[in-house]
Amino acid sequence: MLMLNTCSKRETQLGIELLGPVPPDSSWQEKAKLGFELSCFTVDWDHRHATCPQGRISKSWHQRSDNYGNPVIQVRFRRPDCAACPVRSQCTHSPAQARVLTLKPQPLYEALAKGRARQHTLDFKQRYALRAGVESSLSQGIRVFGLRDARYMGLAKTRLQHIMTAAAMNLSRMWAFWRNIPIGLTRVSRFSALFTSALS
Ligand code: SF4
Repeated sequence: MLMLNTCSKRETQLGIELLGPVPPDSSWQEKAKLGFELSCFTVDWDHRHATCPQGRISKSWHQRSDNYGNPVIQVRFRRPDCAACPVRSQCTHSPAQARVLTLKPQPLYEALAKGRARQHTLDFKQRYALRAGVESSLSQGIRVFGLRDARYMGLAKTRLQHIMTAAAMNLSRMWAFWRNIPIGLTRVSRFSALFTSALS
C-alpha cells in the first residue's frame, strides 16, 4: 500500500503517468465472478457511506487499521437489509451478519480502482507490451554489463560509464546479428520447468 501511495503522489506531483499492472481484487466475490466485489459498490466519500448493488445504503463508516497498521475504513450495512436480500449469497458468506466493506483511504482507493479498470483495456495492453523490450535491455545491461554498479566517483563519470555501456550493448547486439546468434529464450525457473514436465 505504501508503494501505491508513493506512486500516486509522484504521479500528481510530477505530472507523469505510471504505467504498470496493479494487483487484482483477491476477494472470493471477485474470484467467483458472480459475487459483489468492491467495484460493485458506489462509495460516497463526502457523505461517508456506500451503496450496494441492491440500492441499500450502509449504516456505519469507521476508521480502522488493518493487520499491518495501515489506515482503512470499515463500512457496514444494516443487518435487516442483508437478511432480507434476495442475492445475499452473492454478497456475503456470513450466515447472520451484514456485509462489511474494507476500503483504503480515498486517494489509494481511487488509484487502485483506476489501475484495475485500466489494465483490462486494449490501450493499456499495447502500451505495456512496449515495456518487454525495455526490460530485456535492462536485464542484459545488469547481468552482462554490470549496469547496477557505478565504477567511478561522481555523476559525470557515472554518466560516461552509462553511455559506454549502452555503446557496448549495441556493438554486442550487432555482433550477434551478423553471426546469426539467436535471441535467448525467456528463462523458466526450475520449479516451473518441473511443474510443466509433470503436467505433460
Ligand atoms: S447482502 Fe446486503 S449489502 Fe449485499 S447486496 Fe444484499 S442488501 Fe446489499
